[in-house]
Amino acid sequence: MSRRVCALALPVFCALFTNCATLAPRASAGPTTADYLDAASRIVGREMVDGQAFARLRYLTDHIGPRLSGSPQANLAVEWAVKRFTEDGIVARAERVMAPHWVRGDESAAILAPASQRLHAVALGGSIPTPTGGITGQVVEVSSFDELHALGDRVKGKIVLYNKAMTREGEFTAPGSGTGYGAVVPMRHGGAIEAAKQGAVGALIRSLGTADYRLPHTGAMAYDDNVTKIPFAAITAEDAELIHRLLEDGGPVTVSYALGCQTLPDVPSANVVAEIVGSEKPDEVVVIGGHLDSWDLGTGAIDDGAGCAIVMEAMRLIHVLDLKPRRTIRAVLFMNEENGLAGGKAYATDHRSELAKHVAAIESDSGAARPVGFGISGGAGAEERVREIASLVKSFGAGDVKKGGGGADISPMRDAGVPFLSLRQEGTHYFDYHHTPADTLDKVDPFELSQNAAAMAVMAYVLADMPDTLARQEPESPTRASK
Ligand SMILES: [Zn+2]
Repeated sequence: MSRRVCALALPVFCALFTNCATLAPRASAGPTTADYLDAASRIVGREMVDGQAFARLRYLTDHIGPRLSGSPQANLAVEWAVKRFTEDGIVARAERVMAPHWVRGDESAAILAPASQRLHAVALGGSIPTPTGGITGQVVEVSSFDELHALGDRVKGKIVLYNKAMTREGEFTAPGSGTGYGAVVPMRHGGAIEAAKQGAVGALIRSLGTADYRLPHTGAMAYDDNVTKIPFAAITAEDAELIHRLLEDGGPVTVSYALGCQTLPDVPSANVVAEIVGSEKPDEVVVIGGHLDSWDLGTGAIDDGAGCAIVMEAMRLIHVLDLKPRRTIRAVLFMNEENGLAGGKAYATDHRSELAKHVAAIESDSGAARPVGFGISGGAGAEERVREIASLVKSFGAGDVKKGGGGADISPMRDAGVPFLSLRQEGTHYFDYHHTPADTLDKVDPFELSQNAAAMAVMAYVLADMPDTLARQEPESPTRASK
C-alpha cells in the first residue's frame, strides 16, 4: 500500500468519528448506527494501513489479463480467485456456469468514397463475421430508431450508421434513462435487428464513450432469430463525425468493413462463491458481487476487475478483523456479465430455494473511482435504513444514498424481492475507457479502490449483523438494468 494511504489514515479516522458522533439516536427497535461505529472504524482503519485491494487488481489485470467469457483467461481468473480467497482463510468454491464463447478475429474498416480513409472499428460482441473480404455499401446515417424507421425502403442494401453522441453524466445511467450511456445503449443492443428489418446489409455505431482519443468501444449486441443477422461494428466518435461531414457535403459515402469474429460452442466456466458464515442466522445471506469476466480489448481493470477486488478485499477485511456477523456474507464473482449474463442467471437459478432468505445483494460494477455512496431498491424504509448505515462512511464521501440500486449480475434475483444495492463510484471518466483497450490498471487509484473496499465492507457487515433486515422489493420497484 502506498505511503499516501498511510498518511491519510489518521484524518479518515478522525473524520469518521466526528461525523458519526452527530447522529441522532434511532427511535425504532433496531440498533443505532453508532452501535457499528467501532466495527466501521476498524474496517476503514485496517484498509487504510494494510489494504490489498490494488494488489489483487494488479494481479488480475497484469498476470491474467483480458477475461472474455469462454476464454482460457476467464477460467484462469476463476482458479486464481478461488485460490486467493482460500489463502485468505475464506471458504470458496467455483460454481459451474456454461459460458458463451465468442472470439474476435481480424477486423478492418475504411471509407472508400468520396475519399479513401481508414476507419477505427471493432466488432461488437456477438456479431457474426462478414464474408471474407468484407462488405461494402453506401452509408445511411441515423441518430435514433425513429429516424431509421422513417427512412423505410431507403435503407435496403445499405449500411446503417447509428450516430448519436453520448453525453458525459458523471454517473452510470440505466438504459432508457434518456441521458448518458442509458440513452445510447439500446441502439447498440438492438441496432443490428432494427437495421436488418429494413433490409440493411450491415450496421455500424458511433462508439458509446465520452473521450476524444479516437478509440472504438466494444459492447454487447443482440440478434433476433426471426430477423436476418447482419455484421455490426463500432467505429470511433471521430470517424462517425467524419462520415457525418462527408454526407453533409453531399455524399454518397461508401464504406467497407471486414470482421473475422466467430461464435464457438459454449464452454464450462464458473462463478466464484466465497462465504463468511453467519454466527446466528447462517441461512440468511447478504450477497456482495462484481463480475470476473471482461471485454477482450483491455484488461478489465475498471470493468469490472475493480468490483472483484473490492468484493475480495471487503471479505478479507471482515474475516481478518474477526467481526463474525450474525448472517452469512457471500461474495459472488460472476462470470459472463458482458455478453450473456450466464453467471447471474445461473446463480439465481441454482440458489432459487435460498433467495427468500437473501436479505440484500450489493453489486459494484461502475468502476474504480472514489465511492460516492449507494443506490438502493427495497421496500418501505429501506432507503432511510441504508442512508443511516452509509453515514458510517460519509467521512470519505461515500455516504450519499439514492433510490434505485442493483446491477446486471444480481438482477435475475429480482423476482424474489431481494433488496438490491449498488456501490456507486464517481463516474466522470468511466466511459472514457469503458470497453476499450484503455481499460487498464493505470486508470485506477489505489487509495480510491481502498475506499471502495472499505465502504463495501462496512455496508455488507452492518446489513449482515443488524437485528432487523431491509424491507424487500415490491414487484413493481425499479431496478438498474443490464449493462
Ligand atoms: Zn461491468
